[in-house]
Amino acid sequence: MLRKALGLTEEGWRAFRRGVAFCAIANLALMAPMCVLYVLVGNFAAHLEAGAPLPELAPYLVAVAAMLALVAVTQLLEYRNTYGPVYDESARKREGIAEHLRTLPLSFFGERDLSDLTNTIMKDCADQERLFMHVVPQLFGTGISSIVVIIFAIIFDWRLGVAAFWPIPVAVAIMTATSGLSNRKVAAKEARRLEMVDGVQEYLDCVREIRATNRSEAFLDHLRERLSAFERAQVASELATGTTISSGQAFLKLGIATTILVGAALIVSGDVGFLTYFAFLLVVTRVYDPINVVLQSSIELMETRHSIRRTNALAAERPMTGSRDFRPRGHDVVFEDVSFSYGGTDEPVLSHVSFTAKEGEITALVGPSGSGKSTCAKLACRFWDVDEGRVSVRGVDVSTVDPEVLLGDFAQVFQDVVLFDESVADNIRIGREGASDEEVLAAARAANCDGFASLLPEGYATKIGENGARLSGGERQRISIARALLKDAPIVVLDEATASLDVENETEVQGALSRLLAGKTVIVIAHRMRTVMGADHVVVLDRGRVAEEGAPTDLLERGGLFARMVHLQAESAEWSLQGSVDARA
Ligand code: ADP
Repeated sequence: MLRKALGLTEEGWRAFRRGVAFCAIANLALMAPMCVLYVLVGNFAAHLEAGAPLPELAPYLVAVAAMLALVAVTQLLEYRNTYGPVYDESARKREGIAEHLRTLPLSFFGERDLSDLTNTIMKDCADQERLFMHVVPQLFGTGISSIVVIIFAIIFDWRLGVAAFWPIPVAVAIMTATSGLSNRKVAAKEARRLEMVDGVQEYLDCVREIRATNRSEAFLDHLRERLSAFERAQVASELATGTTISSGQAFLKLGIATTILVGAALIVSGDVGFLTYFAFLLVVTRVYDPINVVLQSSIELMETRHSIRRTNALAAERPMTGSRDFRPRGHDVVFEDVSFSYGGTDEPVLSHVSFTAKEGEITALVGPSGSGKSTCAKLACRFWDVDEGRVSVRGVDVSTVDPEVLLGDFAQVFQDVVLFDESVADNIRIGREGASDEEVLAAARAANCDGFASLLPEGYATKIGENGARLSGGERQRISIARALLKDAPIVVLDEATASLDVENETEVQGALSRLLAGKTVIVIAHRMRTVMGADHVVVLDRGRVAEEGAPTDLLERGGLFARMVHLQAESAEWSLQGSVDARA
């Protein structure tokens, strides 16, 4: 249970127990020089009382040196067993989270924002790293060593034992009673911090739009409001935790005072010898030191409880799983009575959609913006699972297949290609890991990447900047096509948002595409009439339903939504041409 509460992996838990044990040993070893001092004082007092000459000091000095060496060794062992393993555990945890995120359905990412996730991976892990390095092993280790010392002290003399250690249960009771309040304040502070980070990220993401629309002042006001809300929450949380800890620490101080008073009374009454009194004074000061340090750092423990809860919640998210054995007898993609909404409860985005994208044919999805075309394409690749009905690849329901295995059969070409700050060649190689340089080059050539790559300073070896900042829209898309060509998957999903490309680029892109599409099952989100008319099958979507489907020429004749869209597009092309002619005249 404790392992779960601390969010440790199996290995981390073993390292943690070792850390606790060494910390307890190190704390107990700190008592060893006190024992030598105790024996020395006892011996000297006995000699003085008997009027005998004082004993040799050298053996005591040797004993003290040996004890100090013991302290040094145990401290070193404690350090080795807490710091090193903590870094390893932290790395394992981050990797574990990243690995887990890979298996989660995309719907999860739709509900969580990116800054929240980044926060969990980076800050929460770092917080826990610090906690496991400084606080938790010390907390448990000090707990164990203190209990041992207290038991011995009480056996030695129970009256002085009670006088010395009574404040500990009282301090724990005070802190437990007030921890609810400090927890609430810490939780509130964490919530404000996430809002603040969110605000900053939003500002950075939208800085261009904000400037362009002259809304900087309004946006900054909003951001300032979040910053000061966080500041207020932070002060409140520090006040609450600080008060709790300080009152605990103040109580502990009383232990020394009561030991002095009760000890003095017992000496006067002759119940306790000076030596026992002296020993207790030594022990009380030593025992309270580590306890005070632990109390101080338990502020961090309180704060980190929230981050552990967040990481645990993330680990508990159900991954998208399925069979790793996916061998369909062909590659027709079939939608049967599919209904779907993002988030499950909202307006349905697709209602009872049925159509088949046949192998070897180009199936064009057409319809007004927001009609559900991209959603269909994403459901085919199992980015989400459908609410009703089923999507299958030649009889195999995609929701039963492991998403990674399924995607092995899909190549996707989108306008908003994700590119990494690697070389052009490496970005293409993402299509098929382990492809040889020749294969990468062949795919790049087939996708007409040669033209722009030869102009780059180091050709295909040129790094392209974060998310391909150095490349134009058409160049990025050609990289995406080269990736798909290299992958040579039997199903191709294509978002043909090529409107931003100039004519020359467009021809190049089209040439590359026709090489990619030959013989595949092609689902294309079509925007231009040329593609639509060149498709074998057209599915017209309207507000999430299939309005009509068939061969493009048949649909034109039928005079329905498709025919109207074609006319509209033709008219708008004419109109814009006419508009520019008028403007020139
Ligand atoms: P199209 O490709 O035809 O323009 P989409 O499939 O992208 O249409 O979108 C259909 C509807 O689903 C739209 O109303 C859109 O706002 C909504 N939608 C798209 N993606 C998401 C998402 N990730 N989360 C919530 N709603 C979405």
